[in-house]
Amino acid sequence: MGAPEAFTNTTDVGHWIGGRAHAGSGSRSQTVFNPTTGAPARRVLLASEADVAAAVAAARAAQPAWGDTPPIRRARVMNNFLGLLNQHRDTLAAMITAEHGKVFTDAQGEVTRGIDIVEFACGIPQLLKGDYTDQVSTGIDNWTLRQPLGVVAGITPFNFPCMVPMWMFPVALACGNAFILKPSERDPSPSIFMAQLLQQAGLPDGVFSVVQGDKTAVDALLTHPDVKAVSFVGSTPIAQYIYETGAHHGKRVQALGGAKNHMVVMPDADIDQAVDALIGSAYGSAGERCMAISVAVLVGDVADRIVPLLAARAQALKIKNGMELDAEMGPIVTKEARDRIETYIGVGVEEGAKLVVDGRGHKVAGFENGFFTGGTLFDHVTPAMRIYKEEIFGPVLACVRVPDMARALQLVNEHEFGNGVACFTSDGGVAREFARRVQVGMVGINVPIPVPMAWHGFGGWKKSLFGDMHAYGEEGVRFYTKQKSVMQRWPDSIGKGAEFAMPVAK
Ligand code: NAD
Repeated sequence: MGAPEAFTNTTDVGHWIGGRAHAGSGSRSQTVFNPTTGAPARRVLLASEADVAAAVAAARAAQPAWGDTPPIRRARVMNNFLGLLNQHRDTLAAMITAEHGKVFTDAQGEVTRGIDIVEFACGIPQLLKGDYTDQVSTGIDNWTLRQPLGVVAGITPFNFPCMVPMWMFPVALACGNAFILKPSERDPSPSIFMAQLLQQAGLPDGVFSVVQGDKTAVDALLTHPDVKAVSFVGSTPIAQYIYETGAHHGKRVQALGGAKNHMVVMPDADIDQAVDALIGSAYGSAGERCMAISVAVLVGDVADRIVPLLAARAQALKIKNGMELDAEMGPIVTKEARDRIETYIGVGVEEGAKLVVDGRGHKVAGFENGFFTGGTLFDHVTPAMRIYKEEIFGPVLACVRVPDMARALQLVNEHEFGNGVACFTSDGGVAREFARRVQVGMVGINVPIPVPMAWHGFGGWKKSLFGDMHAYGEEGVRFYTKQKSVMQRWPDSIGKGAEFAMPVAK
């Protein structure tokens, strides 16, 4: 593959309402930075309540006809969208790298994992098939069907500006809803490009809208009576706020929160594989993944064998402009996020953890003002330390030493987050026991980042998810539809008088 073309657009990023660009009624906007250079790249408009109301009104007007469109025809629109996404995958990936900073090859992977969900949504006719029982009582049949909710909203984080929205809207749209996306204000450009592709794919105007913005836009969506459901992905405090506020306003809510993912390495694990897995999952995307591994739980004598190998690899990471195809790690999304991560490293040192590799102050030649930090490795981290308990969301790997599997499991199970976890071992019995007993939503056995495929659904436990249903997969279909039960009897069986006792099968 040749050098990919960088995304360098400097025009403002606005809203997308009723099938066209919408400048917004408010005067607020925010700078979007290029994290590689550290320079302002463009501005994003921040929606007012009136902008949100306009998007909801457009969605409400468009939804009934879309909801009435046969599922197979909705699936055809998704199929057209799928083709366009495949055609424009690298454009989307370059947009992601330009605003998020993750390396281009990783951004391509993000788009592909989003495309997986669109492929799943293309099968919506099969997924919406109801259940039917003939003759529940003499002359009576009963069936269930699922119908769209109406207008639904998605509020998404900066770290996957394509994939996380695509966890939501392909399924919501295929189910017959109108969808309003409120993307992260830190990397807003892919949202508008996806809206344009949906329009090209044949989606009727108003069925998909984008409102850029911050808390004002989020609160307007959470309290609007015409928004029936809210999907959220982001940090835990905001997830909890979204869940509580949305529920208070009568909405169906799924709110996915933060994480602190552990990888347990047993003494019988293949050490080279475990090192590769830890390096890729701790430092890939600069640790800004909700499924990144941030804690290595090293059992028995593993620590003495593995820490020197991890240190050598962390020091040798290729940290550079993400558009360079051999880059392994790019910059952090913003200067504030980089400073927060480096402050945490200082906290770890003060708490008494052993700083084996210090990524602070890392500079990349030619990009001295970029928001870079290096890979950081701590050893002898204890569960009492803040760097163990709190989500850092950066390229910082904390090694904890434990004597045995029982203690490793206890650590994972006592942590307040429960998004992802991995166990590296060559013992099937240990692996099976681990997978059964661990209190975490997504488990990898010799797989460091076990992000479920499109038809399985994604979701953590404990403070990593507020709500009942996981994102995408069949849970996604259930989330974006409501079940209706129909019982039918035809006239020749009516007229036998009123029934006052609870009807039972006759
Ligand atoms: P964030 O919580 O700061 O922002 C997420 C969204 O909420 C954004 O759209 C933002 O505009 C909005 N928001 C922020 N503050 C708000 C407020 N006070 N009121 C209302 N809305 C507000 O998260 P982020 O920094 O963009 O993303 C990183 C976080 O997301 C990490 O904690 C990461 O673990 C989490 N994450 C979780 C998953 C998952 O599946 N569990 C996936 C990706 C990211």
